Amino acid sequence: MNTKPHLLKINISHLNSHITCSLCYGYFIDATTTTECLHTFCKSCIVKYLQTSKSCPQCGVKIHETQPQLHLRADRTMQDIVYKIVPALFENEEKRREEFYNSRGFSKLKKGVVEKIPEPKLTCIQASDDRHMYKYDEKISICLERYHVHSMPVRGSHSKVPSLQEKFIRCSNRLQVHDVIELLMKRLDIPSEAELTLICHGHELTKEWSLKQVYLMYWSPKGSPMFLFYCFKPG
Ligand SMILES: [Zn+2]
Ligand SMILES: [Zn+2]
Repeated sequence: MNTKPHLLKINISHLNSHITCSLCYGYFIDATTTTECLHTFCKSCIVKYLQTSKSCPQCGVKIHETQPQLHLRADRTMQDIVYKIVPALFENEEKRREEFYNSRGFSKLKKGVVEKIPEPKLTCIQASDDRHMYKYDEKISICLERYHVHSMPVRGSHSKVPSLQEKFIRCSNRLQVHDVIELLMKRLDIPSEAELTLICHGHELTKEWSLKQVYLMYWSPKGSPMFLFYCFKPG
């Protein structure tokens, strides 16, 4: 009788069709699945595709009438499978991100946005509240800048919002807009009767949205960090 342990050998090429993106033909990077038909793509590929289409590129099903980007979910399981199967992929991708971040991330955003960007000092949001403690979640880097209001009418005595000392924050992308506003109010010592609002790429943000949603909707092609501007809610 054969007592040798049975080792299953699989040729990676047989698996390829299940772990590659039909838009770029590469292995999934930030695997993202549509909630409508459960087809998976790289995040950047599908987000870009949905800027000009409302349907799934693989099966043609309409993802959503008006906002297909909101019907995408990060597929951590699929991404873990890819990283297990293609060990070098993870390392390469981390390296690529780092290089991209170093070479373009900050210098590219420098012009016109902030006069002088200091070395990125990343702080983590820490709170006893476990809403903030998504240890295994995807992280997002954000930069919180004061919004310079010229034409916006501002009500009340707090016409000028103070500026934040530590602008760069790294936190779970499941954090919601109101969590960030709470954090800002606390750090800037703003009286609770005043109301702050966040703006991303010209859009005033809905408080219930997660940072991931904001990123997918308004920011993703621009890379890291995501700039969020704060000001007092116009009256
Ligand atoms: Zn792709
Ligand atoms: Zn589909």
